[in-house]
Amino acid sequence: MIKAPRGTKDILQDEIYLYQYVEDKFHKICRQHNYTEIRTPIFEDANLFIRSIGETSDIVKKEMYTFLDKKGRHLALRPEGTAPIIRAYLENLIYNQQELYKVYYISPMFRYDRPQQGRYRQFHQLGVEAVGSSSPVIDAEVIKLSCEFLDDLKIKYILNLNSVGCPICRPDYGEEIKNFLKDKLINLCDDCKVRYEKNPLRIFDCKVEECKNILRDIPEIFPHLCKECSDHFNVVQNYLKILNINYLLNKNLVRGLDYYTRTTYEIMPAVESGSQSALLGGGRYDNLVEDLGGSKTPAVGMSAGEERIILHLQKDIIKTKDEIVLFIVTLGEEAEKFALRHLFELRSKGIKVEINSFKKSLKSQLKYADKISARYVLIIGENEIRKNVFILRDMYSSIQREITLSELREGKFCEI
Ligand code: AMP
Repeated sequence: MIKAPRGTKDILQDEIYLYQYVEDKFHKICRQHNYTEIRTPIFEDANLFIRSIGETSDIVKKEMYTFLDKKGRHLALRPEGTAPIIRAYLENLIYNQQELYKVYYISPMFRYDRPQQGRYRQFHQLGVEAVGSSSPVIDAEVIKLSCEFLDDLKIKYILNLNSVGCPICRPDYGEEIKNFLKDKLINLCDDCKVRYEKNPLRIFDCKVEECKNILRDIPEIFPHLCKECSDHFNVVQNYLKILNINYLLNKNLVRGLDYYTRTTYEIMPAVESGSQSALLGGGRYDNLVEDLGGSKTPAVGMSAGEERIILHLQKDIIKTKDEIVLFIVTLGEEAEKFALRHLFELRSKGIKVEINSFKKSLKSQLKYADKISARYVLIIGENEIRKNVFILRDMYSSIQREITLSELREGKFCEI
């Protein structure tokens, strides 16, 4: 038997309502913050990600699903949402129409990661991007939106905050990292030795315990920030205080993508659940538009992992599924036709109606209605049609009464 590829899953009825619940909340919160939805293709030119996320990042080096199409184009399944949105922003000349472009997305992403709890090869991200403003107000808005989203889902969390500076001040910090690690190089993993040479800040991505231990005493970036980055970071922190948002400063937080500048943040669940715990992350990326061929345009965004969020939902507070309001028991073909003609229209009034489609006897139909948790059952046979009086049964109380077609159409069955 052919199985779903490793690291992917079917989202079935016992889970889909959780996705819908989370997505409904996200749609609502984004609209309240005046973000509009964007949908970009699932695959893109592979170079879009190589140029933006960075050649030394784990995503590009190890995790991208790339392929050649029939014409030999080098394509990649989208591993993240920001670069495609900036590509769309440039390609559709949006910068000519909107000074501040605020969009959100809910999309599947693909990474050749080692599957484990909360980590998949196809997963879903919910994210926002605000392109065009360098103001710390927007950093604060995106962080606030992230927190409100989790508050709304009743998930308890810890916000970690850092600044990764800009291309002016970061190289200085890179040198400091190299100095600090110079005599410890031999103890670093092979990947970190390459990172040391090519992109020292990427060393913070390392998941090898020994490397992480070495990094614990690494100097902070803050003294290396240039005046502009330092001022920006101070204002962001002040704004978070005004918004009553608690956070922890985390000097090791650089995020796994090269395009970040200045503010970076990550939100972890307050209850630790293994190593794959970041619920969401984001930050500023003031050079990405320029790196992808546009003019210098500041931007900030965030992205949440839907599967990780679902892992931390208090599932018992979420209504599992809409109950079937009315199940129609049909005894014979005439009854079936009658139901099609007169009762299907109840659905357009928002009533969830289900009809018998394969059981023959009254008893087996009632049993089935009970199995699928129908609230009311309407029994239609030839006699009932002739008299225009039907039997309505409340499945909770087992009380039965007679009802006419016009009463049914007026929704009077709910008052049984
Ligand atoms: P990133 O784009 O790496 O900043 O990731 C943003 C969020 O996506 C993370 O905080 C996770 O919640 C989620 N995420 C990243 N990789 C995976 C994965 N392989 N499986 C499930 N969720 C993921």
